[in-house]
Amino acid sequence: MMKALLMRAAMLAARPFYGGIGAVHVMHRIVPKTGGPRLDNPALELDPHDLDAILSWMKARRYDFITLDELPARLDKPGRRKFVCFTFDDGYRDNLENALPIFERHEVPFTLNITTAYTDHAEFVWWYALEDLLCAEDQFGFTWEGREHGFALGTMEEKLAAFEWISRLIRSCDLDQHQRLLAALFEAAPFDPMTKHGRELILGWDEVTKMDLHPLVTIGSHGIHHLTSSKLDETALVEQFAGSKRLLEQRLNHPVRHIAYPFGGPQAVGRREFQCARECGYATAVTTRSANLFPASAAALHHLPRLCVSGNYEPVPRLSLLESGLVSARQNGWKRLPGD
Ligand SMILES: [Zn+2]
Repeated sequence: MMKALLMRAAMLAARPFYGGIGAVHVMHRIVPKTGGPRLDNPALELDPHDLDAILSWMKARRYDFITLDELPARLDKPGRRKFVCFTFDDGYRDNLENALPIFERHEVPFTLNITTAYTDHAEFVWWYALEDLLCAEDQFGFTWEGREHGFALGTMEEKLAAFEWISRLIRSCDLDQHQRLLAALFEAAPFDPMTKHGRELILGWDEVTKMDLHPLVTIGSHGIHHLTSSKLDETALVEQFAGSKRLLEQRLNHPVRHIAYPFGGPQAVGRREFQCARECGYATAVTTRSANLFPASAAALHHLPRLCVSGNYEPVPRLSLLESGLVSARQNGWKRLPGD
């Protein structure tokens, strides 16, 4: 009780300094909660009822729901009400099946950031495939760059540690290494990741095109291969940013003006990537650094932070805490805007 009161007081104190004039939110999947062993991915998932509760909470507080196209002008002329932009990353099928009907009911717009090789169904979402693989096995091994790696997976702690270690290895790769490593990891998997974690999980082009025609939906880029940008040389980086824009524009027949960096944390994107996104012609680029937006964010359109209501928390209390700016301020060394 005392702790809750103290937290409430801290949030009230933080809000005038860190609450900002609005925020961009990042979401991934909207799916009902399931039982069974899980590793890291539930953080990426919200139950449809929780999404409904989040939108209702914001509506009750009379937020303005705006698009990313409207964001730069809104930062220049903030207005009296708080605003919010919603973004979805990766291009999951449930964004159409579960999220869109809820956004339609509330008449709220959102941007869907597409990883083009996923939507081609030429690659699969490795973090879901890896979770299923490690949950299914009692031990696991693979050979990488001439070295054998073995993991005991008898407990959930061991599975989680293996997931984190292998995820770090995958994230450290450039495109060639990435494709060879995924082949080594999944060659003996007891399922076909291209089906289960590709075609079944990710929207195809017909569905993306259909969503693009919806008045509430804006399509943005999330790269071609979902690589860690800081691990790429200049040519490969431009290919991911400009190439994904070109591929989307060919499919959709109109300009694509926004990008969400794949893995948008400080280890994955910095000044070089922000400049590259600008030079590739994007009007805005969003990271996964956490903060609200301020009028000064108008000068940071290619490294806009986003808030994330993780599925690991009770959604509305977490949203209220994020909206106060307290969590982000603590993470960002009590600066309003995250640094480069
Ligand atoms: Zn992503």
